[in-house]
Amino acid sequence: MSQLIEIKQCNLCGREKFKEVVRGKDRMYLLEGTFKLVKCTNCNLHFVNPRPKDMSKYYPNDYYSFETRHKRNKLAELIYKTYFSKKGSIFLKALFYPIYPLVRTTIVETGKKMLDIGCGGGVFLSRMKNLGLEVHGIDPFAKDNPELNIIKSKLENAPYKKETFDIITINNTLEHVENPDYTIKKISEWLKRGGKTIIGVPNINSLLFKIFGTYWSELDLPRHLYHFNSKTLKRYCAKHGLKIIKIRYNSVPFEITGSLAYLASALSKKPKPLSKSKIASNRALYYLSFPICHILSLLKIGGRLEIIAQKNASNDP
Ligand SMILES: [Zn+2]
Repeated sequence: MSQLIEIKQCNLCGREKFKEVVRGKDRMYLLEGTFKLVKCTNCNLHFVNPRPKDMSKYYPNDYYSFETRHKRNKLAELIYKTYFSKKGSIFLKALFYPIYPLVRTTIVETGKKMLDIGCGGGVFLSRMKNLGLEVHGIDPFAKDNPELNIIKSKLENAPYKKETFDIITINNTLEHVENPDYTIKKISEWLKRGGKTIIGVPNINSLLFKIFGTYWSELDLPRHLYHFNSKTLKRYCAKHGLKIIKIRYNSVPFEITGSLAYLASALSKKPKPLSKSKIASNRALYYLSFPICHILSLLKIGGRLEIIAQKNASNDP
C-alpha cells in the first residue's frame, strides 16, 4: 500500500471534524487499497480521507480512453446532434433528456471565448469550435494541441490572465482535483464579469448511492477524491463570487449498469474489472435504464449534478 495523506481541514469550510460515510475499493480496475469516504460534520462536503499521496497509479492509460470510445459511439453522436439542432426531434430530446449535456446550449448562448478545464483529448472543444467559439483547454494529462489551444498543464502553471473567458466549463473533473477550492477560485479569477461557469459532478445525494452504497458506480474510489451536492457546490461558488443561476439534476445509464456490475463482481467468487463485465456492456440493460434515469432526474435524486453560475456583473466583490 502506498503512502497516505491525512486531510486535517475541510477544503470548503476549514473545520476539522469528520464522520465516516462508507469504505470502498477501486472497483473499476481492482487496484489495491481500501479507502474511506468521510464527510465534514459542519458543511457536509464528502472526501476521501486519508488519500494516496501518489494518485497516478490509479489512473491506468485506458482511464482516458473513455473520450475516444465516446466519439465513436453512434448513440452519443445522435444525442449530440439532437441537442444542438434547433430542429431536433422533440421525441428524441425527451428520450435523451436525462443524459444530454445541458452545457452546450448555454455555452453557445453565452460565449465567444471558452475554456474547458479537464478537457481530455478535446472532443468537446472541437465540437464547440465548430459552432464558432474560440476554444481553449487545459488538462494535466492531455497532449498539447495547438489547433484547439489545449495545453498540458496544472492550473497553477496556466498562462491565462484575469478576466479572460466568457465561459468556463469543468465536467467530470472537480471530483478528481486535489483542491476544489483553488480550482473554483481560479475559475472565478479567469472569468470576465458576467461570465458563466458550468460545473458537472456526481451527486452524492443520489438515491442509488443510498441503495448501492459502496458499489455505487459514481463513487469511483479513490479517483473521486471529493463528492458534492448542490449545497456544497453553492457554498464553494458563493465563496468566490459566483452566483448559481441554474441547477440541473440528471442521471446516466452507467449509474445503473455500473453499480449492478460492481455489486455482481463483489458477490462473485472471481471479481472482475469493469472492462470485463458483461453487465456493464449489456445493451438491453443500458436502454432499459433510460426510463429509470428519467424518473431519478425528475425527482432530483440522480447521480449527476450540473450547475451554471455567474460571476458578479457589477463591481461589488
Ligand atoms: Zn466543511
